[in-house]
Amino acid sequence: MRKIIIAGNWKMFKTSFEAVELVNELKRTLSDVSEVDVVVCPPFTALAEVQDVLLETNIGVGAQNMYWEDSGAFTGEVSAPMIKAIGVQYVIIGHSERRQFFGETDATINKKIKAALKHQLTPIVCIGEVLAEREGGKTFDVIKTQLDGSLVNLTAAEIENIVLAYEPVWAIGTGKTASPAQAQEVHKFIREWLTKKFDAAIANKVRIQYGGSVKPENTAELMGQPDIDGALVGGASLKSDSFTAIVKNCLQVI
Ligand code: PEP
Repeated sequence: MRKIIIAGNWKMFKTSFEAVELVNELKRTLSDVSEVDVVVCPPFTALAEVQDVLLETNIGVGAQNMYWEDSGAFTGEVSAPMIKAIGVQYVIIGHSERRQFFGETDATINKKIKAALKHQLTPIVCIGEVLAEREGGKTFDVIKTQLDGSLVNLTAAEIENIVLAYEPVWAIGTGKTASPAQAQEVHKFIREWLTKKFDAAIANKVRIQYGGSVKPENTAELMGQPDIDGALVGGASLKSDSFTAIVKNCLQVI
């Protein structure tokens, strides 16, 4: 049985002071939840302080991006060893906003995944189609291309240590959630891709999150789908009450 994993992507929101306030709240509201893996991904500037607050709690911490080299003349970048040294366990890789605004490609995403795994960080790898691709009937082609490209040359042992996040771009920050059936259909396709590439046992171990306007009201139905194993949450992760409710609503389907 795959354990549900709910991760909050705070994007470019929260100063370190605000971040500490939020995680102090979450520490209180979620301290009794062990059935679901919970992760928060604050901006780099708040990472160390958030990690300190959440030390020895059941809430994990993730970065939102990283560069693939360990060190060097790469002004403005942050490496996996730097993130790892803080004690952080996860890193979001290839979010659609990084693809759209910062030129990330499946090839650069693959390098980042490899580097994260080398340093024992769990990558949360994002894939998903834009609206025109969905409307053009190209969703599965796009997902296949992204999987083929971003996960190329990963071993079975490596693939077991990643989390995938299916995020239809048209559903991110728009309030337009994919229906549970629409999401499940793509998650099933992703698991079938994993089965073909590796085998059924491995495919059954990999957790696939859904992301795109997840809120407390749609959580249980989405998480109740057979191939949906969690959520990557943007907007609703910025407030303790909505993020807490999303995590707690997962308990209805466990
Ligand atoms: C995201 O940022 O990954 C996301 C899914 O955002 P939202 O929940 O706001 O749609």
